Amino acid sequence: MRLIRIGDISIARVWESSIRLPLSQLGPVDELIACHRDWLYPRFADLSDDMFEFNWQSWIIDVDGFVIVIDPCAGNGRERPAIQPLHRLDLPWLERFSATGYTPERVDAVFCTHLHCDHCGWNTRQIDGRWVPTFPNARYYFVDAEVRRWDPDAPGYREVDYNANVFDDSIRPVLEAGLAAIVPADHMIAPGVRIQPAHGHSDGHCVLRVDYRGTRLWFTGDAFHHPLQVSDTALNLGGDDDPALAIATRERLCSTIASEGSYFIPAHFAAPHAGRIIGAQEGRFRFVPLGY
Ligand SMILES: [Zn+2]
Repeated sequence: MRLIRIGDISIARVWESSIRLPLSQLGPVDELIACHRDWLYPRFADLSDDMFEFNWQSWIIDVDGFVIVIDPCAGNGRERPAIQPLHRLDLPWLERFSATGYTPERVDAVFCTHLHCDHCGWNTRQIDGRWVPTFPNARYYFVDAEVRRWDPDAPGYREVDYNANVFDDSIRPVLEAGLAAIVPADHMIAPGVRIQPAHGHSDGHCVLRVDYRGTRLWFTGDAFHHPLQVSDTALNLGGDDDPALAIATRERLCSTIASEGSYFIPAHFAAPHAGRIIGAQEGRFRFVPLGY
């Protein structure tokens, strides 16, 4: 699926790659599976083995002609030995990007929900051995707490193997080209388009809230990796800087999205990639896939 339509908003999807993961990697899920079979199969788990499709994909949104790219995937030619599916990729992501009808030159803004390797890779591409910004006319929005988290030269830097080399090949070249705007966690980038804090998965992880002609949606990055986390916010895939804060963030997002009646588009969900959240019994929430 290349285009998602929600209210007056069209969102183009640029797929990079996918893997299959076991639902059990999220934590104890047997009871939840029993309660949510009606929407879980076959899109969000395979009935034969309870594996789910985990996508790497980016979003392009056009708000009154202002074009924003959200979470530009992992990128080609990166040294990512700790994550083999992203190591030294050579994939036609840029060709798929152009197939949406948008060119990189047409992009006004790039927003990375956080600076993990799979959310900022295509910030840059390699030309003649140098990393250069992929979107030459865009302003790249980086949240200040997230830049502090991942700059290896920042005081107290905590290294993690899965994010080695990312700052040098995907962030620093954008800073040096003068295309970056380092902004607070609550920041408006265009009318109706606002960065909002959603910390926990990483120190400065944020989401993007869009409110356009009465349609409200949230690009929630890695606040959720699988829709079952809507019903049990303690489930997680690991790799959180602050797991307790990540849970609190999920709970807050669930109640906000449910009470607004808005849609959310996480970074990694399988088709239809987006959905709503409704209140369910005992203060729990329930995911409703787009189109249901
Ligand atoms: Zn991710």
